Amino acid sequence: MTGGSLLSALRQGDRRALAQAVTLVESTRREHREAAEKLIAALLPYTGGSVRIGISGPPGAGKSTFIERFGLEGIALNRRIAVLTVDPASKRGGGAILGDKTRMEELSRAPAAFIRPSSAGDGRGGVARRTRETILLCEAAGFDAVLVETVGVGQAETAVAEMVDMFVLILPPAGGDELQGIKRGVIELADLVLVNKADGELAAAAQRSVADYASALGLIRPLLPEWQVPVRAISALDGIGIRQVWDDVERFRATLEGSGAWQRRRLEQARAALWSEIEDSLLCHFRAAPAVAQHLANAEEAVITGTRTPTEAARALLAAFLGKVQDKLIP
Ligand code: GDP
Repeated sequence: MTGGSLLSALRQGDRRALAQAVTLVESTRREHREAAEKLIAALLPYTGGSVRIGISGPPGAGKSTFIERFGLEGIALNRRIAVLTVDPASKRGGGAILGDKTRMEELSRAPAAFIRPSSAGDGRGGVARRTRETILLCEAAGFDAVLVETVGVGQAETAVAEMVDMFVLILPPAGGDELQGIKRGVIELADLVLVNKADGELAAAAQRSVADYASALGLIRPLLPEWQVPVRAISALDGIGIRQVWDDVERFRATLEGSGAWQRRRLEQARAALWSEIEDSLLCHFRAAPAVAQHLANAEEAVITGTRTPTEAARALLAAFLGKVQDKLIP
């Protein structure tokens, strides 16, 4: 399938066409990039209709168990669900944390679901761009909710938070001391906090954690004055509290649409996307420029050994990039 037929199959919600389009978007080959850009541009009028939900939390918190339950519940509510996983581990060439094929087995068999793990990326920027473009493809294919999953470590959250409407944090029940270990910055991004595993012998600990997180959140200035971040105990395993999360999503959307914050977030997403593209391509051109490439190793070495300051070396490399090669650049 190429060009127009791919576009029309995608518009009809054909999952194979969607998968093929995502592969195109993921490709780094120049002709594929061009085709992908054309496709995205042609599809743009049909995008924006989904609710984009980021789902984050530490490994083992129960994210995939939750997404399976939540996705199936959404399908029962007549929604079509796309799940994208942003996996920072695959970048390091090691074992993928999220890539395990046995995850979300039931959901992956559902005709109303589309699940796509990210392939090994070429850096934060590459993963972010592909995820952003894949969200648009899913929307053009008529998916009502796009869930973007990431592991609650490192920079991935911030990148994901910038491209979603609602950011959901899933945490395991924790004792008071462990609570201190959760990065404040990540909590601050949350629009909804779910304490998972509120079942069996962990039920009491989960309820205590809910109270702890709620009071911790009370000390943080809210991101949106009109939205008080709910903290809920759920059990992804037993399916407790999952339906309520769909209600939260609806309420969140209605509240933000009412106040104008929804549209504002969408504008911010577009702005962040623009800047992320600018940063990525600038850096890419910078590294590839012969005037920079030939001095890069020396400059790094000089900075590492302490013979030049990072500021001075960076300024010299930038000058070389901009065509103003200075004598002092060559050590
Ligand atoms: P992820 O790494 O965050 O995606 O976590 P997983 O969904 O893979 O779950 C990690 C482990 O926690 C698995 O053994 C799950 O069976 C278990 N788990 C997930 N949700 C629950 C839950 O609600 N209750 C209990 N007791 N265990 C759970």
